[in-house]
Amino acid sequence: MKKTAKEKRFDAKSLRFKLWAYFALFAIIILALLWFLQVFFLHHYYEAMKINETNKIAQTISMSYGSENFYDMLSNISASNDLYIQVEMLDGALVYSPSSGSDRPPTYMYFRELQTLKEEYLKSGRDSLSVMLSTPGTDYNTLAYVTTLGGQGTDAARLYIFSPLYPVESTLNILRHQLIYVSIISLLFALLFGIYLSVRVSGPLRRISKSAMKLAEGKFGTTFDGGSYTEIRDLADTLTYTSMELEKASNQQKDLMANVSHDLRTPLTMVKSYAEMIRDISGDNPAKRNEHLEVIISEADRLNVLVSDMLSLSRLQTGAMILEKSTFSMKKVAEETVKSFDILAEQEGYNILLSCPEDISVNGDESKIRQVLSNLLTNAVKYCGTDKTIIVVVEKHQGKMRCSVSDHGMGIAPDEIDHIWDRYYKSSTNHVRSTKGTGLGLSIVKEIVVLHGGTYGVDSTPGEGSTFWFEI
Ligand code: ADP
Repeated sequence: MKKTAKEKRFDAKSLRFKLWAYFALFAIIILALLWFLQVFFLHHYYEAMKINETNKIAQTISMSYGSENFYDMLSNISASNDLYIQVEMLDGALVYSPSSGSDRPPTYMYFRELQTLKEEYLKSGRDSLSVMLSTPGTDYNTLAYVTTLGGQGTDAARLYIFSPLYPVESTLNILRHQLIYVSIISLLFALLFGIYLSVRVSGPLRRISKSAMKLAEGKFGTTFDGGSYTEIRDLADTLTYTSMELEKASNQQKDLMANVSHDLRTPLTMVKSYAEMIRDISGDNPAKRNEHLEVIISEADRLNVLVSDMLSLSRLQTGAMILEKSTFSMKKVAEETVKSFDILAEQEGYNILLSCPEDISVNGDESKIRQVLSNLLTNAVKYCGTDKTIIVVVEKHQGKMRCSVSDHGMGIAPDEIDHIWDRYYKSSTNHVRSTKGTGLGLSIVKEIVVLHGGTYGVDSTPGEGSTFWFEI
């Protein structure tokens, strides 16, 4: 599916845009929150903080009332917290005020406020009272706090705390200024970083998509580059693997076509030339004609074997072949298969020996297993050399049925041993053009054994012979 030029330029649904947009949005939300809290809530926050702080200080003072250096502590607290603290007895006698020997504002500074506060406190009948007072002539408020120290006894006293709330306006202005710069810089950063990130993430995906397009056009073997992110790299690796597999499959298909056409052409040419020979030369000579007809028939047989082998192999490989499983006696199968080679043994002097010490029952597709043994025997007959002795052994091996077919032929060269199970593989040294050789026999053996979940193999020494085996 080709994209239109417009879509390529800008796509609001693209990962690239979305990533960038989310990043920018995130920055904007954080900034907005910062602005909102600083500008609108600073007042309240400051006030609440002061009230909280004053309450805590009052608690500390209450607890240490009566202690030895109580008045030193009061001085310290008032100096370090910028508070005006006064303590007087319940009858109004002044016990402590900052005016006594410090540079704090004199007592009369809060004189009037103190009187009103006292009246309100007495009227309220509560343990403690805090009130917000506006200081006339100034633009700031004062938090006033009063409580009783030492219960109701004779040493009970009253504690007054005045905490000036300085105007936050000037602080706010500074903050606003700073926030403007912070906002601009962080937005810029967010935008740039968002762009960078989205390009980094979407870049490899775009490259993968381009490569996938190539793959779709039939360029198998295309490699995919996933960049540096693990997930995207994994995707790219998987796609590269798929692409390689497709290339292999496509090459195999080409090979198969070449092999099939080659294998079919040879017998067809023979049939054609012998038929022509009969028409032009030997038609009237019965002996010659029969000889030529024999060749035609055997080539037709060869074609028949080839085509049916090809069919069963392709069915096995595409999974179209379903195993018809049953439990059968392997001894019986081996005996019958060996028996079918009797004519050969009689006519051409082959010596086929079967050793089956015990009867072993096998669960599998009987006719397929028969075909496996028959293919191995056919090969042994073809490649057993002058010795003409073939030994078939059926035995139990590690809980499995093991069947082996040995011959004393010329064996298989070590460098060929891995290839003999491939389709259409025919050894360069061993190959004798027999009417039965298709190069498919061992591939069929392999597929059937694998389909049964079994194992197979060959032990071979060049010049001494080979033992082909399978276990189920
Ligand atoms: P073919 O129709 O050529 O026999 P196979 O797939 O059955 O095809 O065998 C593949 C190749 O394996 C043969 O061409 C031959 O070179 C080798 N081979 C198979 N069986 C034997 C054996 N018993 N001894 C030596 N070589 C063998």
